[in-house]
Amino acid sequence: MRAKIGSSVQEAAQLLRAGEVVAIPTETVYGLAANAFDEAAVLKVFEAKARPSFDPLIVHIGRRDELARVVAELPPGAEALMETFWPGPLTLVLPKKPAVPDLVTSGLDTVGVRMPAHPLTRELLGSIDFPLAAPSANPFGYVSPTTAQHVADQLGDRIPYILDGGPCTVGVESTIVGWEENRWVLYRPGGIPVERIEAVIGRVEPALKQVLPAAPGMLESHYAPRKRVMVGDMDALLRRFAGQRVGIISFQEERPGHRCEVLSEQGDLAEAARHLFAVLRELDASDCEVILAERFPDEGLGRAINDRLRRASVR
Ligand code: AMP
Ligand code: MG
Repeated sequence: MRAKIGSSVQEAAQLLRAGEVVAIPTETVYGLAANAFDEAAVLKVFEAKARPSFDPLIVHIGRRDELARVVAELPPGAEALMETFWPGPLTLVLPKKPAVPDLVTSGLDTVGVRMPAHPLTRELLGSIDFPLAAPSANPFGYVSPTTAQHVADQLGDRIPYILDGGPCTVGVESTIVGWEENRWVLYRPGGIPVERIEAVIGRVEPALKQVLPAAPGMLESHYAPRKRVMVGDMDALLRRFAGQRVGIISFQEERPGHRCEVLSEQGDLAEAARHLFAVLRELDASDCEVILAERFPDEGLGRAINDRLRRASVR
């Protein structure tokens, strides 16, 4: 099989109806989608990604009235969150309906749901009558794809179709929050800054690892290039790796004399997030021996960037 890259919503819809998997563009990263109610189709997603079955998928819906097909009840604040941030990069972990296969949720009694904002995928969701279960369209553990070509590079021989919606505009995965023991908790920082979520529902607590061993946004080593990644103060890192061929990920500042990727000259964290994964891939494919990344301001999208860099650095 060699994936076709195209922008035909019809072709993508037909394949999905036939129980196939299709890579789809979202505003966060490209997803690998299957009919969420078709267990055999969902199994193909796990196989294509070599994803362990303890890693639950996010269910993508196109309209609010589809929520009732997958979610059993809404905790306080959920309505307000959906109203404010959907369509957009926020995933809510909510009590699931029995109709959602255990494979999708890794046997958990909750399901992660979101409504993506990408126009092509919204059109796709509008033309099929089932929600799409989709994780990021990359081999398990590797950097997520933000272009159709990234998907083709790694999964091109395992899937029939990649719906090309251009480069992702957010560039990091969705923020994931859930309701647990009567409070909102954060499972993964992402495309919607936690500060904005807290402005709607009040304090969001860090999730306890023990509570959710099965949430891979929480796995320590994830989003990782093959090359070693070091994160920290750049001057100190450059001293430590003096004499080695380094690839640098910098927020604003050029580092003359080295291969340096500046994520946002203007110091815009949203722009930096948009470029992060493409730059990690480029440096991974380059001839540098080690990737050195600056620590980003720990606010807004900077938290998601720091989270992904930290996990990329875990071996
Ligand atoms: P990906 O789309 O590859 O980022 O993977 C989806 C992520 O969503 C998983 O790795 C989990 O961290 C998270 N997730 C999905 N469903 C649940 C759930 N029911 N409870 C907690 N986390 C979830
Ligand atoms: Mg992923």
